[in-house]
Amino acid sequence: MTESSALVLYDVADGVATVTLNRPAVRNAQNVAMTFAIDAAFMRAAADAAVHVVVLAGAGDHFSAGHDIGTPERDIHLPFGRAATMFWDHSDKPGAEAMYVREAEAYLGMCRRWRELPKPTIAQVQGACVAGALMLAWACDLIVAADDAFFADPVLRMGVPGVEYFAHPFEMSPRIAKEFLFLGDRMSAQRAYEVGMVNRVVPREALERETRALASRIAKQPRFALALAKRAVNQAEDRMGLRDTMDAAYALHHLAHAHNALTSDDHLRGQDVRSMKKAAEE
Ligand code: ZN
Repeated sequence: MTESSALVLYDVADGVATVTLNRPAVRNAQNVAMTFAIDAAFMRAAADAAVHVVVLAGAGDHFSAGHDIGTPERDIHLPFGRAATMFWDHSDKPGAEAMYVREAEAYLGMCRRWRELPKPTIAQVQGACVAGALMLAWACDLIVAADDAFFADPVLRMGVPGVEYFAHPFEMSPRIAKEFLFLGDRMSAQRAYEVGMVNRVVPREALERETRALASRIAKQPRFALALAKRAVNQAEDRMGLRDTMDAAYALHHLAHAHNALTSDDHLRGQDVRSMKKAAEE
């Protein structure tokens, strides 16, 4: 059922599907190919009556360092399919259109789609959970963090006001969210627990076992009632403004990309993996 060369591993045991990001050599940097592999795995888990809960995990020392902005397999500029939107191909379009359309599909649209998976999802997070990876973890219903996990959204340095799936003021209080965005600093697992972003913090060596135990308990509950409870809370979040907040922030995000493209080297203000890593170490 699993292939070590696959971008995403998929495994089912005792009612729990585990979807594992599998580019550990590059801290599970998420390219578009991986995004569609995650989507296929989630679709498979949603359709399989033997699956009651889905765990999203990362192979190796880190959950994920975020979107792929620097490996040879970076593929965001290439044509790719559509699962979350009905937008046309972005790859041969000029100006802000290309960016707006591709991120609507691969980033915001996909994460919103995954949030609606009608079975409980649990992010199992160790090590880095940075930028694009936050969107993955936040789209899950529960988050179990290892004590070595850290969370950060440092993209303000790239001239954009946070990641595309803008849930920051819902994942933590607005005042904490501002500090999180303004500084881009790492938030420890313990701090993430204190601000209400994660459900459990467990020792690194117990992460898989504790996540599995939690998933197994939930998996024994009635399937349809779980789906309805999830829907009820998601609806509540949307009525509290989550969806509108994201739509408004997405427009600001693309004003920022367009501004960067007009005034600097590129839509990311000329920042790349090396400069972002250097800034994080300062
Ligand atoms: Zn963007």
